[in-house]
Amino acid sequence: MTRILVVEDERKMREGLKDNLEFEGYEVEVAGDGEEGLNKIAAGNYDLVLLDIMLPSMSGFDVLRHARERGISTPIIVLTAKGEEIDRVLGLELGADDYVLKPFSLRELLARVKAVLRRRDPALAAAGLRIALGCLEANLDAYTATRKGEDVVMTAREFEILKFLWQHRNQTVTRDQLLSEVWGYESAPTTRTVDNFMVKLRQKIEEDPSRPKHIITVHGAGYRLVP
Ligand code: CA
Repeated sequence: MTRILVVEDERKMREGLKDNLEFEGYEVEVAGDGEEGLNKIAAGNYDLVLLDIMLPSMSGFDVLRHARERGISTPIIVLTAKGEEIDRVLGLELGADDYVLKPFSLRELLARVKAVLRRRDPALAAAGLRIALGCLEANLDAYTATRKGEDVVMTAREFEILKFLWQHRNQTVTRDQLLSEVWGYESAPTTRTVDNFMVKLRQKIEEDPSRPKHIITVHGAGYRLVP
């Protein structure tokens, strides 16, 4: 059974996550502060950790840093407050596998959980859709990627965007299409959000991101992926 640890100090949030994840068939344990969280991560054999950043006794960043310093490679999804861009960046630099902005919808969180678990699934790693694009080699189902042989950290959403573009390669894809297909109806990001993701994808794919050869802007329309 897949075991998940939820480290969250707000009781309502913690219990809500536990109930919903159990309903999805996961085995769930909880910790209410950073120190307890780190002890459980070190002692328990978890498949995934959901880690809040603002925690009593030890912040989520410190939990993450200590866990990685001890060589613990358990996947960790960081839960960060909306607008705290620095949290997201720092979290990924410290070795988080993904992040979810609070407040999040249950649907979004479950998608991230499944994506991170899938990334660690050896069967999918062997069988998933593999592509080579510019400097990037990726398995779009296993959510793994390398750039010139080095591991690249990509979020679940970046993989989903890339997969959609790949499935529609050599065609123009509009921002609205991407928003409805990749983001879904629950969140309401702007077309600017799409553009920001394209900037990030180009940095991973293109030899020279300022002169893209693979993710092409189609002015007044959207984007076109050219293998
Ligand atoms: Ca908190």
